[in-house]
Amino acid sequence: MEYKKNDILTVTIEDMGSDGEGIGKVDGYTLFIKDAVIGDVVICKIMKAKKNYAYAKLEKVTEPSVSRVTPVCRYHKQCGGCQLQAMSYEAQLEYKQNKVRNNLIRIGGFDKELVDRIMEPIVGMENPYHYRNKAQFPVGTDKDGNLITGFYAGRTHDIIANTDCALGVKENRQILEAVLRYMKESSVTAYDEKTGKGIVRHILIRKGFASEEIMVCLIINTLKPLPVKGRLIELLRETPGMTSVSISINTERTNVIMGKEVRTIWGKDTITDTIHVRNTSDFSLTDKAISFHISPLSFYQVNPLQTEKLYSLALEYAGLTGRETVWDLYCGIGTISLFLAGSAKRVCGVEIVPQAIEDARKNAEFNGITNVEFFAGKAEEVLPEKYEQEGIRADVIVVDPPRKGCDEACLNTMLKMQPQRIVYVSCDSATLARDLKVLCDGSYEIVRGRAVDQFGGTVHTEVVVLLQRNG
Ligand code: SAH
Repeated sequence: MEYKKNDILTVTIEDMGSDGEGIGKVDGYTLFIKDAVIGDVVICKIMKAKKNYAYAKLEKVTEPSVSRVTPVCRYHKQCGGCQLQAMSYEAQLEYKQNKVRNNLIRIGGFDKELVDRIMEPIVGMENPYHYRNKAQFPVGTDKDGNLITGFYAGRTHDIIANTDCALGVKENRQILEAVLRYMKESSVTAYDEKTGKGIVRHILIRKGFASEEIMVCLIINTLKPLPVKGRLIELLRETPGMTSVSISINTERTNVIMGKEVRTIWGKDTITDTIHVRNTSDFSLTDKAISFHISPLSFYQVNPLQTEKLYSLALEYAGLTGRETVWDLYCGIGTISLFLAGSAKRVCGVEIVPQAIEDARKNAEFNGITNVEFFAGKAEEVLPEKYEQEGIRADVIVVDPPRKGCDEACLNTMLKMQPQRIVYVSCDSATLARDLKVLCDGSYEIVRGRAVDQFGGTVHTEVVVLLQRNG
């Protein structure tokens, strides 16, 4: 049977794809339906029909899945941030565990038996809402010309006005409203992507969960100073915990959010946060902790409680005795490096963002850690260079790359360096699987792995994997 656009079908959702879309079949014809949950029976309308499959719109849920829940946020369907809010958190965790498993099998080419043996159960959050310590809100105007801020709708740059995101901290709302109020009072315009005109592009908010310090950075499209800056600062200081207010100038017409530099206009340049080492048996806190200075430009994990669990697992997987030389690639502000330093002889971190490396060095000093060294540059350039020219070696290499995974030159150098163990921390299990294949086609084997959910409501998860050298 051939189906075409606008056909209405009833279908049972049997699976979910990597973007969280529901998948069902009618007479062998596959339907991909956004917002449908595994276990639902739904009525859908075909939007785009191909020979063997179609993308369809959810019209009505006729029999809700046992995993279906009432979403906390009323914008969850339009907003590009959350894909799984209509699913119970338990079902979300199951989905993520399966997603990692499937990627390791399909992309990595690993045996099902091996994957099931080495993957431990996913580590979930205690509270899957209000966990994000950072958000970047675009600023714009609605069709009536009112100033708005919120999040981009899925796949577009239309702004959904929402100052109360369910994943963010409760202070976001007051801060965003303060900025909008300042803009209205002082006739400061919102940036318009289409024309390249207007002033305020984004509002970055970050909170140190341990310190309760808050940082706000306005990303603006002008070299001129902001008018009546004092009023902006006055309004922002009404939020308890306000510690740093800054401006970043970005006049480029690109999707990059931050400008290259940041200027503090009130308070400190950075906020602090503390990450504890946890016992990996029950994830209870130990008294070992590292504190960090975080600037607006540096990468810092968005879910600090789950980060503690993830890094504690990475630390355990690294199996350090105090005698090892460790390389921490993609080290950001040195979070993992400093976490490992207490148990290693020496840790070397590599990171592409120079400001993050400056922060990493300051953070080492701040914590009185002296057995670490940081290098600014691309991991795929710094590591081969140091290996070829200086013959550096490593007992353990930790990598924590962005979603695109490790560059091949980096993986090849790791294979040449032959560390005893490699700990791979990943935020995208598809590229993780691809890279693990390269390492396991070399002389490594996977020993253990575990997903740690850092991103409730979304399809994303972190994963940590331990590889050991054969022989
Ligand atoms: N380990 C850190 C950061 C992980 S995020 C932490 O947990 O906080 C990934 C980091 O890789 C980011 O800081 C990003 O700036 C950096 N990065 C991206 N591409 C890189 C490359 N080619 N070489 C080195 N670092 C890179």
